[in-house]
Amino acid sequence: MPVSQGRCALCRAVRPLCNSHIVPEFCYRPMYDSKGRARIISTSGKGPKYVQKGLREKLLCPECEQVINVYESYFKAFWYDKPALPRTVRRREFVVGSIDYAKFKLFHLSVLWRAGASSRVYPDVSLGSHSSRIRQMLLCGDPGPQHHYPFGGLLTVDHEGTVQLEAVTPPYSFKYKRFSVYAWRYAGCEWHYFVSRRRSLRIPFQALLPRGDLVLPVIPFTQGLVFEAFADDRRRSTRH
Ligand SMILES: [Zn+2]
Repeated sequence: MPVSQGRCALCRAVRPLCNSHIVPEFCYRPMYDSKGRARIISTSGKGPKYVQKGLREKLLCPECEQVINVYESYFKAFWYDKPALPRTVRRREFVVGSIDYAKFKLFHLSVLWRAGASSRVYPDVSLGSHSSRIRQMLLCGDPGPQHHYPFGGLLTVDHEGTVQLEAVTPPYSFKYKRFSVYAWRYAGCEWHYFVSRRRSLRIPFQALLPRGDLVLPVIPFTQGLVFEAFADDRRRSTRH
């Protein structure tokens, strides 16, 4: 429901703005408790922190919400409703096939772009000139080739192999060669988004392929860059 006027981050027109999600609401759904509250994964040792809904910011006009909704609807139907992932995985990698390359990639780019466009929710995501390039890709429905803003995922499981659909973390940024990388956990995976002007650089694992295959290496929930980064923060904060 639009509540105030402002400049829409996607079409750049001054219009009524919606309270837009950064990570879609349906990614938080598996973690709602019986009172409809979502639990934010916390490694601070102070127990879980509750919010009523996923994090939002006044970002998009209603028309642009619909542009993004096309990508979100595809991802929800494919990833959650189908579903694309089994409940448990007991092997070293899992391959998801029959992906619509354009919609799947544009969904992921839309999450990254929204985080970059938000000033309040994720101030650490700074896409610079890439923000306007990704914005154009979203508006035009153009996912670009495989090596243009490549991304991949690590499937996170617990000690019994249960896929950890409920984890939603803030993005963690770092440098890899000439890439700015944003690592982020939601929808059962630790997603890694590689941002660079150069399109031919290799990334350390397989990106989504235009033919619709995505190879997901399987990692324990207690490993991965995001977990390690937050654990480091926790260690630092307990020392001081
Ligand atoms: Zn708009």
